[in-house]
Amino acid sequence: MATPATTETKIYDCPICIGGEWRRSAGRRETLLNPATAEPVTSVPYCTPEEVQAAVDAAQAAFGTWRQVPVVERVQVFFRYRELLLRHSEEIARLTTLEHGKTLDESRASLGRGIEAVEFATSVPTLLMGDTVGDISRGVDTVTVRQPLGVCVGIPPFNFPAMVPMWMYPLAIACGNTFVMKPSERVPRTVVRLIELLYEAGLPKGVCNVVHGTKDVVDALLDDSRVKAVSFVGSSPVARSIYETAGRQGKRVQAMGGAKNHLVIMPGCDLSAAVKAIIGAAYGCTGQRCLATSVVVAVGSVADPLIEELKKAAGQIPVGAGDNPQTGMGPVVNAAAKQRIEKFIQVGEQEGARLVADGRSVHAHDGTQGYYVGPTIFDHVRPEMRIAREEIFGPVLAVIRAKDLDDAVGVVNGSEFGNATSIFTGSGAEGREFAARAQTGMVGINVGVPAPSAFFPFAGWKGSFFGDLHALGRDAVRFYTETKVVTSRWPTPAREHKITF
Ligand code: NAD
Repeated sequence: MATPATTETKIYDCPICIGGEWRRSAGRRETLLNPATAEPVTSVPYCTPEEVQAAVDAAQAAFGTWRQVPVVERVQVFFRYRELLLRHSEEIARLTTLEHGKTLDESRASLGRGIEAVEFATSVPTLLMGDTVGDISRGVDTVTVRQPLGVCVGIPPFNFPAMVPMWMYPLAIACGNTFVMKPSERVPRTVVRLIELLYEAGLPKGVCNVVHGTKDVVDALLDDSRVKAVSFVGSSPVARSIYETAGRQGKRVQAMGGAKNHLVIMPGCDLSAAVKAIIGAAYGCTGQRCLATSVVVAVGSVADPLIEELKKAAGQIPVGAGDNPQTGMGPVVNAAAKQRIEKFIQVGEQEGARLVADGRSVHAHDGTQGYYVGPTIFDHVRPEMRIAREEIFGPVLAVIRAKDLDDAVGVVNGSEFGNATSIFTGSGAEGREFAARAQTGMVGINVGVPAPSAFFPFAGWKGSFFGDLHALGRDAVRFYTETKVVTSRWPTPAREHKITF
């Protein structure tokens, strides 16, 4: 039987991967604690500039041969990889829970989403197909082909240790690029295991490299002229700065940022379905999701019964260690996150919102002494308050009361962010109008978390995204390839009947 995540005793020394070889970094180290128990579990290195350069050297060297491997052979690696991921899914989910804190079910589900991205990557031969016009002029044909860019870099956040990195390297590599991954320094182990398995699936050495660290390492990667594309997911200030820095250097950038997602509840919707969806969307992954609902906009008469039901449901969530099967909500990622979230609760009180449920007093049902914040609800929040505008990234829900749909759309569109929003309604007309008017890249109708599957782009807008082409879907294939238009003329021998396309 696998060891429960909370009882690991040995500190894992996180390695780096250069040219397909795993080794110990010479950089300084920090110790990461299990968020459910505050026990040390991982020693994470901060790579030296030489190590970062060596990773790019290896990726650059591997590019020459990897790009020439026919695409149908490249994707065979990902067919094998998918099988390995499925076989090791429980082990990977436990690692995610150990370092991030989310429940095992949440870790399993997010790995499942990552595996979907690998499945999408196996369809790259079709997705790379170009356009052709025969005889665009007499005897002249034009085709488009998609070619890989070279060395691509991935900089994911802490909140999805498996899924978000898997938005990046599988598709980039299947398209013929090579990769340098810099996992979040707060949850590095899941990526290490994912890339170990990728090599086990037969990836040639050097095609995917792993370095650890944060700003210094990212800056070194952005400064390297051999890096052609940067996929970033994280907070908005860092997303913006990476977009600007990498863009100035002529690199391709997709930089996904933070969020403040609104869920609009209309009178006449199925209230119990709405409450269930809000609880999942606000407190799933302890609110540490870029698609988390952090603001509910309660329209008209729905507000009072909704608050009543939400308070009851939130109070019934068992908070505790993520690997305990009875747990409904795990800890937040570390002590700093707990402190930041609790500070926001204080700010909400000072701003005059009504605190209906206070997560600061929570005790874990299993007695673990981790970084816990319980489900928190504020009522009578106004759009201008900080708790309504700023990303808290924890289990804190703000309820704003609106008089009608128009008013609710105004609240949603007044946000500086534009990741996702949802509406719960019994009216098709309301749903349709909301989808048309909402200024967010993803919209849900009677869906709590409108997360698209890997076949569609993860399409944030406004302050939630900096770039043109999003992660996943056809957007990502375009992001990781360059289009070339080839026009050719071959003289045709004179014949009685000329052959044309
Ligand atoms: P973060 O911005 O602190 O870190 C993200 C990554 O950037 C990490 O790998 C980190 O090492 C690196 N980094 C941190 N500071 C840096 C700097 N100054 N310069 C260069 N690199 C730097 O984000 P986080 O706290 O790890 O993740 C949570 C954030 O991610 C939230 O804002 C959340 O909304 C967002 N997120 C967005 C999406 C999306 O698709 N829009 C998905 C998941 C998470």
